[in-house]
Amino acid sequence: MSAPNKSYDPVEVEALKPEEIERMRDEALAAFAAADSLDALHEAKVAHTGPASPLALANREIGALPPHAKADAGKRVGQARGAVNKGLAARQTELEAERDARVLVEEAVDVTLPYDRVPAGARHPLTTMMERVADVFVAMGYEIAEGPEAEAEWFNFDALNFLPDHPARQMQDTFFVQGPEGTEESGSGVVLRTHTSPVQARALLDRELPVYIVCPGRVFRTDELDATHTPVFHQIELLAVDEGLTMADLKGTLDHMVQALFGADMKTRLRPNYFPFTEPSAEMDMLCYVCKGESVGNPDRPCRTCSSEGWIELGGCGMVNPRVLTACGVDPEKYSGFAFGFGIERMLMFRHNVEDMRDMVEGDVRFTRPFGMEI
Ligand SMILES: [Zn+2]
Repeated sequence: MSAPNKSYDPVEVEALKPEEIERMRDEALAAFAAADSLDALHEAKVAHTGPASPLALANREIGALPPHAKADAGKRVGQARGAVNKGLAARQTELEAERDARVLVEEAVDVTLPYDRVPAGARHPLTTMMERVADVFVAMGYEIAEGPEAEAEWFNFDALNFLPDHPARQMQDTFFVQGPEGTEESGSGVVLRTHTSPVQARALLDRELPVYIVCPGRVFRTDELDATHTPVFHQIELLAVDEGLTMADLKGTLDHMVQALFGADMKTRLRPNYFPFTEPSAEMDMLCYVCKGESVGNPDRPCRTCSSEGWIELGGCGMVNPRVLTACGVDPEKYSGFAFGFGIERMLMFRHNVEDMRDMVEGDVRFTRPFGMEI
């Protein structure tokens, strides 16, 4: 604060000269206009309206003026401060509007962006193929039956008439989980089932006759993984046990299955074979669904699918061996049955020209996706 005003003329107090007050006001307004952000404006506000700002200091000089001069000086300083506050508020509003507009742009949500960033998966073709085959039988009144993958040796072999020295029981074919010595109570070891046939034995023991079941499932053999083998693969197994069933019923059922899966003009043929759990047993072929047999003896129309043989081997079948029925508590004098089983991988290979079995097990979506999504 300066010394008391000798002449009592407010103009003579340096800070209260009109041009000085105008300069302070203009400087303040210029500083506000130059502030390009709310932070910069805050700094300018402190500098030009705070307690240490030139106008605040000038205001304090008024107190030292004689009473008659106070009104005049007070009016000029008051007007200047009013203009400064008004300019500040206007700039504040401007900068806030700019900020709001910027935030709207920066935080905007683009509703036109694709929403399904996670691509929909596809079920594995082995699963859809297995269900499609099972559906054919369910439509005929068969029930789906399932059994454990780690199976008692008795169900996997003994109940199905595999004698103790049968080669399939050797270590090179079967994954043994537990030897018979580990399970004294049951007297049976535990294996990873080598086929879905043990589900037949379980169904015969569990269910009331007649039995009509279809058993899809995973099976295990000690094969190396290569283009045509995999140690884990899928089978689908069929079993019908009723009074008076014959080989003709089996043949008719197989014909219906291939017609449902491959077309109305399909047919099957049976070739004699041997399996321990069926008697008589047969290898089942179906007509090549591509050339319908027309490539046979016709070098001009070779068929890759059947190697121009006209038939495609599908699986094994036969009438349930009476020994199996007896082992499962069914009277073979009264009941007879037929069974049929085949590999799903093989069917997928020739039906969709999959040349390498490893493609099916590697879980690469590039293999699975072209088969599409099926519910
Ligand atoms: Zn063919």
